[in-house]
Amino acid sequence: MRGKKIIVSGIIIVIVVAVLALAAVIFSRPILTAMATNLIKQRFISQSEKWDDGLYAGLAGSGGPFPDIKRAGPCIAVMAGGHLYIVDAGQGAARNVALMGFQTGKVDAVLLTHFHSDHIADLGEIMMQRWVGGSNTKPLDVIGPTGVETVVEGFNRAYSLDDGYRVAHHGAATAPPSGAGGVARPFSLSADEDASVVVIDDGGLKVTAFKVNHAPVSPAVGYRFDYKGRSLVISGDTIPCQSLTKQSRGAEVLFQSALQPAMVSLIHDQAGLSSMPSIGKITADIPGYHSSPEDAAKTADAAGVKQLVLYHITPPIPHPLLNNMYLGDAGKYYSGPITIGEDGMLFSLPANGDKISIRQVLK
Ligand SMILES: [Zn+2]
Ligand SMILES: [Zn+2]
Repeated sequence: MRGKKIIVSGIIIVIVVAVLALAAVIFSRPILTAMATNLIKQRFISQSEKWDDGLYAGLAGSGGPFPDIKRAGPCIAVMAGGHLYIVDAGQGAARNVALMGFQTGKVDAVLLTHFHSDHIADLGEIMMQRWVGGSNTKPLDVIGPTGVETVVEGFNRAYSLDDGYRVAHHGAATAPPSGAGGVARPFSLSADEDASVVVIDDGGLKVTAFKVNHAPVSPAVGYRFDYKGRSLVISGDTIPCQSLTKQSRGAEVLFQSALQPAMVSLIHDQAGLSSMPSIGKITADIPGYHSSPEDAAKTADAAGVKQLVLYHITPPIPHPLLNNMYLGDAGKYYSGPITIGEDGMLFSLPANGDKISIRQVLK
């Protein structure tokens, strides 16, 4: 009996010593350094995707104005013909743009749909990262409807002290003072309800801004991207309107912001029980100037788009089991695929083809 105990104790001691020895090897400085080097290489050095010719849309922010643990504010990075554009700069989205493998230092322009705070919150970060990340000598073009001047001027001023620190610290060669911040590129639209204007026409890529209805927010626009036979539309915030349907006609992917009133009303009911009267009022107001998933499905059907992607997900979906509650009856109105957008989804539309693929790159 005693001999058996000694053997068991001996085995335990051998196991403990082996585990400690293994831990000493795993956590030794050379092993940790090799591991860190490898991860840094993956994340910071080899992060850029190998882009074949085509139209790409990276959902860097699929959320809306409410705090959402899984979703940054609205932001879609669009790449085509070697150009990179960012549509809207929602809260927390700038870091996702970089984490998805887009090189912020190479952003050609930011395009804003309207000036609600959830669409412009990260503009300063994108301007700063694009400047220092690419040692750019000219400020970033920020394209938007009239009013974009005010937004850009405000961010430039807010970041002016930081601009100075970075020049002083890194030197003018790395952070050329002339490249800091942004420069507003406003466009105007006629009074027509379905007014549109081409804002970029470059190397086969055409970007069309078109009026949407987000009243009382005006101006508010969406954008259509066309490149080598491929196309996508980003709705911005809007209720269903003729202009969105018209511009989406024949488009392959429609990114449509969508708010589910049935779920917002649950927040409204809860807010009524708490001491937050403003939440109650806001949740009563917001369904009036957004599309529901059902509205989005009707627009997708009327326009004949191949695929509908919902983004600006409002309110946050608290559990995946509630995805169907968010979609509501959308499936009744549109027979094509409906995707509930998630941060990190990359949509690829190879040039001159008809394939649309989706993969998750934020893992
Ligand atoms: Zn919004
Ligand atoms: Zn809005």
